[in-house]
Amino acid sequence: MPELPEVETVRRGLAPVMEGVTIRQADVRRKNLRFDFPDQLAERLQGRQVISLGRRSKYLLADLDDAQVLVMHLGMSGSFRVVEAEDAHLIGKESFHRARGKLPQHDHVVLHLTSGASVLYNDPRRFGFFDLIPRAVLAEHPYFAKLGVEPVGNMLDAAYLAARFSGKKTPLKTALLDQHIIAGLGNIYVCEALYRSGLDPKRAAGSLVTKAGKASAKLQLLTDEIRATIAEAIEAGGSTLRDHTRADGSLGYFQHRFKVYDREGDPCQNEACSGTIERFTQSGRSTFFCPKCQK
Ligand code: ZN
Repeated sequence: MPELPEVETVRRGLAPVMEGVTIRQADVRRKNLRFDFPDQLAERLQGRQVISLGRRSKYLLADLDDAQVLVMHLGMSGSFRVVEAEDAHLIGKESFHRARGKLPQHDHVVLHLTSGASVLYNDPRRFGFFDLIPRAVLAEHPYFAKLGVEPVGNMLDAAYLAARFSGKKTPLKTALLDQHIIAGLGNIYVCEALYRSGLDPKRAAGSLVTKAGKASAKLQLLTDEIRATIAEAIEAGGSTLRDHTRADGSLGYFQHRFKVYDREGDPCQNEACSGTIERFTQSGRSTFFCPKCQK
């Protein structure tokens, strides 16, 4: 499943192609993905200019010139790719798709832009979805109404987490995965940030808050590491984006090396530590951690 840095990478790849450009024609090739497509989606997109392409949590948000927002979610296996004008006649041709590792029958939505470029949405497992929501009610929509803060930039700070964690006996990792507290922070990056902060995923979230309700030094460190972990992954996505764009215009997934995630049995990478990375299940998700240096 794409995590926030991958979705942000997709946004950065699509923005220069879509922003300020008009959708000449939209092909919607199925009735549904995870949910039904909105009624008349193709007709409603035709002739619309994309004002800007934003992101909230793992949702891509294309602001259209009729005050609607096209909401796009990649689900488990969704990806976008850009086909430049000179290749547009090859869309749907088997050999063209095979060279790009995508099957044409999984291209469910194609946006033909007035620039001549096309944006294709491919999704073999069809857990992704598209929705069209008026800009004026977007923030109150059930997708967004209860989302917590973004884990990027200065949106997330230790005082905010102290207020949310105060008195909480919930395991720290579970609290960090709670989308009502931080939006879009997934399992991989929570494992990484906890490892980098030297914090035990099982300790109570409230243990990082002082009696006066202030953030402890450890919570400050954790906050910094969450933001740094996400920022580094977005940066890594940016470099794969340049490679990908050169190679095939594909956007969606990138390989990234993690310090602790998916490293069960490996030696701890902390130089001062002789521990071994362990895995256990927490709230139905795999937690990877070093029992020696995460306290
Ligand atoms: Zn260690």
